Amino acid sequence: MPPSPAYRPEPRFFDLGPDYGDAVRPADFPQTILRFRNDRAAGSVGLETLTDAEWIAHFGRFQPLPGQPGPVAMRYHGHQFRTYNPDLGDGRGFLAAQMRDDRGRLLDLGTKGSGQTPWSRAGDGRLTLKGGVREVLAAAMLETLGVPTSRAFSLIETGEALERGDEPSPTRSAVLVRLSHSHIRFGTFQRAAYLGRTDMVEALVEHARAAYHPDVAADDVPGFLRAVVEASARLTARWIAAGFVHGVLNTDNLNVTGESFDYGPWRFLPHYEPGFTAAYFDQTGLYAFARQPEAVFWALTQLGGALKTVAEAGPLTEALNGFGPAYIRELRAAFLARLGVQSLGEAADQRLLDTTLALLREGGEALRWEPLFFDWFGGFASSARALGGPRGKLYQGETFDAFRFALFEHAPDQPERLEHPFFAGAEPEEMLIDEVEAIWAAIGSDDDWGGLEAKLGRLREAGEAWGLSAADSRVAAGRR
Ligand code: AMP
Ligand code: MG
Repeated sequence: MPPSPAYRPEPRFFDLGPDYGDAVRPADFPQTILRFRNDRAAGSVGLETLTDAEWIAHFGRFQPLPGQPGPVAMRYHGHQFRTYNPDLGDGRGFLAAQMRDDRGRLLDLGTKGSGQTPWSRAGDGRLTLKGGVREVLAAAMLETLGVPTSRAFSLIETGEALERGDEPSPTRSAVLVRLSHSHIRFGTFQRAAYLGRTDMVEALVEHARAAYHPDVAADDVPGFLRAVVEASARLTARWIAAGFVHGVLNTDNLNVTGESFDYGPWRFLPHYEPGFTAAYFDQTGLYAFARQPEAVFWALTQLGGALKTVAEAGPLTEALNGFGPAYIRELRAAFLARLGVQSLGEAADQRLLDTTLALLREGGEALRWEPLFFDWFGGFASSARALGGPRGKLYQGETFDAFRFALFEHAPDQPERLEHPFFAGAEPEEMLIDEVEAIWAAIGSDDDWGGLEAKLGRLREAGEAWGLSAADSRVAAGRR
């Protein structure tokens, strides 16, 4: 069946004109085998009514959806590991569609692995199936933990054999579609500034302001930067509370809505380790776990630099200076949310943040990141459960006492969530590398997709149990 009446196409990016993207043709894949369709996400934009054949036509063959002008590879530059690279842009993806969701937000369907574009350079424009599966898993886990994230929308295997340095090759190919709240990156602005096109910087600010930060007044460039700073601070805080390491925080991988996307070499922390680094090619640990706030702030200063071509430096600097306070405020809020307790004012909230981190630090490898939040969710309401559970013996000593004291000051927030069967289990859902590799190994060697499906089902349940919403970060809680 065609899209439902709830489908509301609105291809706004194209209003910007031809200087921001290039019409491209998708690759003609030898096969299109549907591996994953996110019907929950599809339901939020009126596309759950598509038959599998229609789905494949739109998301494997890229016949434009009704009301969409066709694929456009977006132009952007960016700093990669702090080196400016003007040879970027959508090299293996494109913007496939834009539409309103059921909450009125303007969302993009963007691709990864859909073929070569004018920006592919030496690249083949393709995505490995393993890379696609990894993005599906990362987005699902982040959504479960209430982090503002793009959602994996579709994964279709495409029947090609790819050569890659970081996977046993030849390896299988796929095309991914993600549903995301904008693909306008910091690097989109950097490109306009680099070209000396202040008219383009201005047009981009106005476009992104109107579409994504409508509370900011027209022509208020510092106000726009402030909104991006706030959203980025919230995102970064939630990554930290989730124990997530994105891996590649280049300025072409950060967008103006503060919703994360483009999950390549990501990892979740097994346990407290500030220097934990996700990407094997990040030899200096530039994007290590605890350096992510610094990395995002650095990227924001580059966005600020681009905006300086059209606005006064002083107010822009002031907007950037808001990052630190916003980040620490959001970090306190994110830890409270993860521990399922209410705010008790800044000082008490900060004590809880500090003592939680101290406990995780002291717990070392024995106290994994995710189980700590699972055990103590709901504060004192979980006391018996935590102390009687598999990590009970870790919960003693001075550092623990300080944590318990700080935690028990705070009232539980919606303690009825503890009645969910998820909390009756001994262990939470984690997303550590061994499990990710095991899920892939079953697919890679036996074409067994059961592990992936089961994991996604468990994450959906875990998400219902946690009840952590990214909604206030403008991300719908859509699940498969
Ligand atoms: P990423 O690190 O995935 O954000 O990508 C950085 C840049 O490299 C972007 O411009 C991508 O489009 C491009 N790129 C990455 N992999 C490929 C590929 N296999 N073929 C073409 N371009 C690619
Ligand atoms: Mg990227």
